[in-house]
Amino acid sequence: MAVTSRPEDSSVASWQTHTVFNQTPPLEGVDLFSANLPLVEAMQREGAGWAMERAAALGTIVGSEPLRWGFEANENPPVLHTHDRYGNRIDEVEFHPSWHRLMALSIEHELHALPWRSREPAAHVARAAMYMTVMQAEAGFACPTTMTFAAVPALRSTPELAAEWEPLVTANTYEPALVAAGAKGSALAGMAMTEKQGGSDVRANTTVAEPRARFGCSAAQTGEGAEYQLTGHKWFCSAPMSDVFLVLAQAPEGLSCFLLPRILPDDSRNAFHIQRLKNKLGNRSNASSEIELRGAWARMLGEPGRGVATIIEMVAHTRLDCALGATAMMRLGVAQATHHAAHRSAFGALLADQPLMRNVLADLCVESDAATAVSMRLARAYDDAQAGDEDAEAFKRVATAVGKYWICKRAPNHAFESMECLGGNGYVEDSGMPRLYREAPLMSIWEGAGNVMALDVLRALARSPRARDVFLAELEEGCGSDPRLDAHVARVRAELTAETAQPTELAARARSVTERMALALAGSLLVRHAPEPVADAFCASRLGGEGGLEYGTLPTSCDFGAIIERHIPVA
Ligand SMILES: Cc1cc2nc3c(=O)[nH]c(=O)nc-3n(C[C@H](O)[C@H](O)[C@H](O)COP(=O)(O)OP(=O)(O)OC[C@H]3O[C@@H](n4cnc5c(N)ncnc54)[C@H](O)[C@@H]3O)c2cc1C
Repeated sequence: MAVTSRPEDSSVASWQTHTVFNQTPPLEGVDLFSANLPLVEAMQREGAGWAMERAAALGTIVGSEPLRWGFEANENPPVLHTHDRYGNRIDEVEFHPSWHRLMALSIEHELHALPWRSREPAAHVARAAMYMTVMQAEAGFACPTTMTFAAVPALRSTPELAAEWEPLVTANTYEPALVAAGAKGSALAGMAMTEKQGGSDVRANTTVAEPRARFGCSAAQTGEGAEYQLTGHKWFCSAPMSDVFLVLAQAPEGLSCFLLPRILPDDSRNAFHIQRLKNKLGNRSNASSEIELRGAWARMLGEPGRGVATIIEMVAHTRLDCALGATAMMRLGVAQATHHAAHRSAFGALLADQPLMRNVLADLCVESDAATAVSMRLARAYDDAQAGDEDAEAFKRVATAVGKYWICKRAPNHAFESMECLGGNGYVEDSGMPRLYREAPLMSIWEGAGNVMALDVLRALARSPRARDVFLAELEEGCGSDPRLDAHVARVRAELTAETAQPTELAARARSVTERMALALAGSLLVRHAPEPVADAFCASRLGGEGGLEYGTLPTSCDFGAIIERHIPVA
């Protein structure tokens, strides 16, 4: 039967049944940095105003082609090649070209190294803002970017190894070929701690390290800088195509940290074998593997028997990036949700004008505002600590654990609610929201899952009264203008300064304590720095008991419009 166009609309082609309308235009061609007002404000406030133009230029790039690269890199996940066509073991991972484009973007813009390369103030703050901007295009490639960034402080524990490797891991050129790092002039770094029998509990590692001189690298036969042979497995090892890994293994002196290159000093390949790639919920553009070390050559990094103390320097920086990553995901969620609601009508009115949707959007925006404020304050603590400020070092220690726990915990449900704002379109892959939803829980699981982080907060407080005091002092900075915050901070102060309870009882409420600390920190920052409607909504719903368990339950006295307005991305 012939299909004819409707007579009243001659522009409709003969094969069309209807006119497409009331669909939201794609969110493209936007400067993803400048459109993120809370981030722009925080970058200025925390001392990295000098990087504003640079971040905006990157934001413009990320809002265009890289959005497509993110889709392509996920739709064409990495493939492991254990052997070549002749049966030789090669252990190489093949990626889609869009993955390499994303990696090049990240490395060329120094997201892996800015604080180690730049002489500008607040370089951690600048990097954090740019990292959170790029992560809106795709999250998978942030993993190798982060590990390369985070390896530097741990590398510095052995100056001889740092002298060799720091220039390579901080180089701003991306060369994926598996050749000697020295020859290509750059390197990506990974980490291998987790084993089958224990990830959080790395002291249970069974990989063995035996002293064995092969290349005459160090005068010492054992200990820091000496050559070892590693035998064992690692159950999770992401970015296995990296050039160098920080690995924990049991040396005769106890659990120690080792620096293990893929390519040996004689240009042959190390005995680092990739068993298989993990079939993951999300994070599909990134390769995460299981590996075998069959007498792999490595050099001891840091002091013998102090492996955890050495690698914890790396872990602290990866935890910072988990908080930043979860914050970036919330930003992506509110950008998509507010954009959609501003273009989609139902029941005769724009979604953005409907009271209940305004409550949902405003609640999501408040969460994103809070996460941004905490993440950027945290980044400044890293700058201040790097400059030698001991109070900042103490604050950073406890606030990293608090921020990693809380922001990462909030991200998955935030992603779900943001997705729901797009209705059925949000559940379809083309929208990017399913990818966001799958990625979100990962920030909480890796680098210290929720319980481990909450217990880490207690550990940091118990070990350092100074950390507790500087954290409380930061909270007090916001007191005096909102009684709900004042009361909450008073409760946190009482809790943190009380005589400690039984260890078992204390551990059992570690999440509650950490949650209250996180809310106090976010509230203190928002009261000082955010527009009044944002701070008011946060204090009412998160501190004053006027909010519900789900998003969209702010008290109706809140100024929804003022809260949402600053989050709507404008092309
Ligand atoms: C995609 C992906 C990539 C990864 N990449 C890497 C990598 O590159 N390198 C690497 O080394 N690891 C990597 N990991 C491993 C990751 O860091 C671990 O999975 C994580 O640290 C948890 O360890 P686990 O899996 O052994 O769980 P477990 O340690 O067994 O923990 C299971 C649960 O028990 C809880 N728990 C643990 N101890 C306690 C306690 N004392 N009290 C109460 N609760 C507790 C944890 O919070 C968690 O919820 C990756 C993981 C994933 C999912």
